[in-house]
Amino acid sequence: MKVIFIGAGPGDPELITIKGQNSIKKADIVIYAGSLVNPEILKYASQDIPVFDSSGMNYKEVCRIYADNKNIEGTIARIHTGDPSVYGAIQEQIDFCRQENISWEVIPGVSSFQAAAAALGQELTLPGVSQTVVLSRISGRTAVPEKESLEKLAASQPSLILFLSISRIEKVCSVLTPVYGETTVCNVVYRASWPDQQIITGTLADIAVLVEQAGITRQALIMVGEVFRAQKEPFFYEFSKLYDPEYTHGWRKGSTKS
Ligand code: SAH
Repeated sequence: MKVIFIGAGPGDPELITIKGQNSIKKADIVIYAGSLVNPEILKYASQDIPVFDSSGMNYKEVCRIYADNKNIEGTIARIHTGDPSVYGAIQEQIDFCRQENISWEVIPGVSSFQAAAAALGQELTLPGVSQTVVLSRISGRTAVPEKESLEKLAASQPSLILFLSISRIEKVCSVLTPVYGETTVCNVVYRASWPDQQIITGTLADIAVLVEQAGITRQALIMVGEVFRAQKEPFFYEFSKLYDPEYTHGWRKGSTKS
């Protein structure tokens, strides 16, 4: 048996990779994270195979399925939301497989932060503004190590994307405002790529109220940074050198200034 960890993508069932979809089609057992994975994706699986929703299971119960089927031919499609490398809790499963000599593979997926950037029509790395994307979260039941506190991460004013933090957006804004300034754009994207996706754009000063008015308490990303000025101010950044007429690179010779 081989366990294949598959990134299901952010919600839209078409945002899974072809490799991920093919692996689900061929799977003998499916285990999916029912809290966030779109059940539409299960339609790719063959009928009459066991399908488990891991949202009601603990680590041991999931690993038991791997262990019990260890010596059987075939594959288990273990479907995680977005990309499994981001808050996916896959490391302990991979380590279990390594320890038990169960073969495994990870098929990456489109993360929700990428779907949210797409929904906004937003590049996260604008020349002259920010060339760094930070993915993080506010401390919750899982603590963030002190060296990565929000204050510290904010210090260089990167394009900051917070997962698992929407229920504490007021706290997020109060920590970020002294660093980024209260007029810095803050977007909240709820259920990116799902039919009921919502985008709320505000500033660090007003986003918490806007989010409360919209009743959003889960399944949303907070996106803060100067790059998001592009939502209202076209062309405020430097253009990329990649398409600069005068810039020569490996694939194109630039023209000289006339
Ligand atoms: N591995 C996932 C993240 C899992 S953690 C990924 O790559 O996207 C769960 C958190 O991800 C949620 O609390 C929310 O902050 C975010 N999230 C997941 N799907 C989302 C979506 N479609 N839209 C907005 N945020 C989402």
